[in-house]
Amino acid sequence: MRIDLTSMDLTSEEKRLIEYAEEAIVKYNKMRHAKGDIDTLYGFVLSDSGAIYDGACYEPNPTICGERHAIATMVLYESNKAKIKSIVVADPVPDLQEHGTPPCGTCRQIIWTQGTSETTVILMQYIQGKDGWTFPKLEKYTISELFPHPYEPKEGLWDNVRLL
Ligand SMILES: [Zn+2]
Repeated sequence: MRIDLTSMDLTSEEKRLIEYAEEAIVKYNKMRHAKGDIDTLYGFVLSDSGAIYDGACYEPNPTICGERHAIATMVLYESNKAKIKSIVVADPVPDLQEHGTPPCGTCRQIIWTQGTSETTVILMQYIQGKDGWTFPKLEKYTISELFPHPYEPKEGLWDNVRLL
């Protein structure tokens, strides 16, 4: 079961990111299973350079989110000036859910900081079956929809205030 990507409003770059993510999820899950581990949440970031960076959730406490892992890797290979064009958040589910897992509050702030108002967040659900993994549902949002009121301290706000 795989969603028909032509039925969604996706750019060609988003389609490339989704297809990359599906292949990478199978690859990483097979590697994890071979070592006795289970499926996890992954983040895949498409940078404005066109490069894609992978991240996986570090689940022991304290947790590191897969989205943040992927974003930090983008900054490692590029710089803090790199911008997120799109990010796939891929979460395993036991069966089809109404909504995929959205980024946590801190990740929304980081996606906003390292993105633009056009940055898209694609929630991907994936299911492990007998014959491998399927990708039955995608949802696409802009970061502005998921995070409409970002924390943005105003520079210079107090510059013209005279001390009493
Ligand atoms: Zn997070």
